[in-house]
Amino acid sequence: MTAERIVIVGGGLAGAKAAVALKEGGFAGSLTIVGDERHPPYERPPLSKDYLQGASTADDMLVVPAAWYDDNDVVRIEGVTAESIDREHRRVHLSDGQELPYDALILATGASPRRLDIPGKDLALTLRSVEDSDELKAAYADASTVVIIGGGWIGLETAAAARAAGVDTVLLEREPLPLQQVLGDELGGYFADLHRRNDVDLRTSSSVESISGSGPYVVRTDGGDIEADVVVMGVGAAPRTELAERAGLATDNGVIVDESFRTSDPAIYAVGDVANAYNAARGESLRVEHWDNAIRQGEAVAKVVLGGEVTYDWQPYFFSDQFDLGMEYVGRSSASDEVVIRGDKDSGEFIAFWLGDGRVTAAMNVNVWDVNDDLRALIGRRVDLERLVDPDVPLGEGSE
Ligand code: FAD
Repeated sequence: MTAERIVIVGGGLAGAKAAVALKEGGFAGSLTIVGDERHPPYERPPLSKDYLQGASTADDMLVVPAAWYDDNDVVRIEGVTAESIDREHRRVHLSDGQELPYDALILATGASPRRLDIPGKDLALTLRSVEDSDELKAAYADASTVVIIGGGWIGLETAAAARAAGVDTVLLEREPLPLQQVLGDELGGYFADLHRRNDVDLRTSSSVESISGSGPYVVRTDGGDIEADVVVMGVGAAPRTELAERAGLATDNGVIVDESFRTSDPAIYAVGDVANAYNAARGESLRVEHWDNAIRQGEAVAKVVLGGEVTYDWQPYFFSDQFDLGMEYVGRSSASDEVVIRGDKDSGEFIAFWLGDGRVTAAMNVNVWDVNDDLRALIGRRVDLERLVDPDVPLGEGSE
């Protein structure tokens, strides 16, 4: 029997995409999205890029126009938290006292920024919501100096935005290179050079011990004290599993779901940043914190709830923009993989491949466009290395 009452908890990208796909799939029952933010669902990548740099508006980020929900009989409950789930009676209890009955419940509760457990940690700004981005933008407008803690994607992008705002920027990374765990030494080094070329004072192998003061702040590191008008912390995000945990659903680095997004309760599904989902192509469970994953899983869970068959097997994909660099990455590499480059890194336009046992595990196109589908098609394939790295040989030729 297909569901007549569907509740989506989490008014972010995955939740909104699920709602749109449910309506497009012909769902005519009652559909409610509960979100604790006071905005229609929006996309977050601009929060550390063009929106932070004042080059786009909040409306540009909306997943669908605000009127879409009313126009499609989707009830959107804003600024309200789903506090608990009564699984026996299939009801969600909200912070405003409402109770929502459901036949199918989709958890799309996302993730929230982590903080280092150091004295003064709350003095640092973090970046997840449109309000966070507004606060950071205003801080950059007044600041002469910023210290950014964490050389991951968000740390690097907020460093680029700080430089664009004319703020002297110190970026502290605990590892010897930024992005080292994702990209390895050679490409991590490439991003380090990019930031240094753009006058970011990147300090690697640097451990932060405390933050103090009230503006200017003092960031104490194992290499000495640094003063800054603003401190930003970009040290990763934790899945928002609290609701699922309270309901007794299985969790482990996210809500555990199968390849059709079913949790340990068959009436409850989880998608997006919060889901630790089985990926059939990779033969492993993954929690993926990327824009594309939220879209794909949101759309796919709608199909499942409508009675369709889905075996999720999409290779992870993400993108980033920093200074004059735009990149896309597909697949997932491991630390022991070999890295080969097609094209010339120094030109700023190239494709990197990661290989394990002769097969492509991941690929990244840097300032080279319209190739990511070809790169995706190569994941898992055995390749002829010489032809792979030769820009005159069409991508994919010589692979099996
Ligand atoms: P979210 O977007 O976090 O939405 C979850 C929503 O649920 C939130 O509104 C939350 O407040 C709400 N919620 C949680 N619990 C409850 C509850 N109990 N009751 C009610 N509401 C609740 N990805 C890329 O691929 N490329 C990028 O360049 C990129 N840039 C990014 C930049 C920033 C600054 C950030 C923060 C993320 C970026 N991402 C990027 C990641 C991408 O935005 C996320 O993967 C995506 O937002 C995940 O969507 P989601 O719907 O799963 O979660």
